Amino acid sequence: MAKRDYYEVLGVERNATGEEIKKAYRKLAVVHHPDKNPGNKEAEEKFKEVSEAYEVLRDKEKRAQYDRYGHESPFARSGRGAYGGFGDFDVGDAFDVFARAFGGFGFEDLFGERTHARSRAGSNRGRDLQVRLTLTLAEVARGVEKTLKIKLQQKCDNCSGTGSRDGKTGACPDCQGTGQVRSVQRTIIGQFVSVSTCPRCNGSGRVVQDPCGSCSGEGRVKKERTIKVKIPAGVSSGNYLTLRGQGNAGVRGGPAGDIIVLVEVEEDERFERHGDDILLDLPISFSQAALGASIEIETLSGKARITVPAGTQTGKILRMRGKGIPHLNGSGRGDQLVRLTVWTPTSVTAEEKGLFEELKRVESQSPPSAGRGFWKRMKEAFSA
Ligand SMILES: [Zn+2]
Ligand SMILES: [Zn+2]
Repeated sequence: MAKRDYYEVLGVERNATGEEIKKAYRKLAVVHHPDKNPGNKEAEEKFKEVSEAYEVLRDKEKRAQYDRYGHESPFARSGRGAYGGFGDFDVGDAFDVFARAFGGFGFEDLFGERTHARSRAGSNRGRDLQVRLTLTLAEVARGVEKTLKIKLQQKCDNCSGTGSRDGKTGACPDCQGTGQVRSVQRTIIGQFVSVSTCPRCNGSGRVVQDPCGSCSGEGRVKKERTIKVKIPAGVSSGNYLTLRGQGNAGVRGGPAGDIIVLVEVEEDERFERHGDDILLDLPISFSQAALGASIEIETLSGKARITVPAGTQTGKILRMRGKGIPHLNGSGRGDQLVRLTVWTPTSVTAEEKGLFEELKRVESQSPPSAGRGFWKRMKEAFSA
C-alpha cells in the first residue's frame, strides 16, 4: 500500500511547528489508540500511521530528509528504508512513540540516548553510528568502494560477549529471573498496565555474577574496525546509506546498531553540477568563434573533442549527451554542457595587432545594436 504523506496523516501544514505537530499527533493517537478500540484493525492501522508520521516529523533531521526525499529513499534500490528502518514500523514501535509523547514512561530520563535503540529492539541493542564520507565528482560519476576506519563498540573477545569472567550467571534481582517488568501508566485516556523487557538483564532473566575484566561486564569493548562501503554512481550530498547491523555491538550479545554513511560531494574545480548534468565553461578565441574549431576538452571520462560551429556567440551551450552523471535510480546518464565564452586577448603581439587592424579595415559585418533583438538572441543561446 502506498504510504500517505506524513503531513496529511497528521493534518498539519508543511511549515507546522514542532509544537503543532505534537498537538496534532496526541489528538489523533488518543482517538485511534488500540486500548480504546479493542479488536478494531482499522484503528490499529491508523494508530500506527499517525505514530510513524509523528516519529519522523518530530525529529528535525528526519523531517528535513523527509521533506527532501519523501518516502523514497535515495538508496531504495538497495532495499534499505530511508528512516533507519521505519519501513517496518510496527505496532510495538507505535506504542513506544505514544509512551514518549505522553511522557508517562520516562524512558528518556531513565535511558537517555538508548531510548531510540530500546524502541527498536530492546535496550541491549548497540547504538547507531553516523559517519560522513566525502567524495569527488569523479568518484560520484563511476561509483566507488571506500574503506572506512571506525572506532566502535565490538564484541569482547575475552568473554565472547557474555560479560562474564567465568561464564556463570545468576537470576536477575530486578525481575526475579522472568526477564519482564510490569509498570502501570497513567495517560489521559486512563490507566493501563504494560509489560516490558527488564532493562537490567535485557529480558534474559540472568545477570553476570563475576564481570569480565576486559569489558567490565558489558560484553563489548571499543576498537577500530575497517569497513568497506560500496557507493553507487550518481549520489549527491545529503544521500545516505545504512549498513544494517554494522554499528556498535549490543550489550552482552545484544543486536548491533547500524552505521549510517552520510555522503558529501566536494565541489569540482572544472565542472559545475546541475542534478545529473555537468557544466564546463570553455573560453574560445575570436578566430575559433568566427571560423569554427575542433577543441579538446575535459569530460568525466577523460578527454574528448567537440566541434565549435562557425559564428558562435558568447553564451552558446553545446550539449554532449550521456557525458554527465549516471542516474542513481535507473539507467542512463545526464549530459555534459559546454558553455562557450568568446575570450578577448588582454595583450596582442605586433603581428596580431597588424592582423586585427587589417581585419578592422575589411570587416563587412558590424555587431548588432544592443536593442531588444540582441538580448533575445542571447537568451536563446543560454537556453539551448
Ligand atoms: Zn569481556
Ligand atoms: Zn531482569
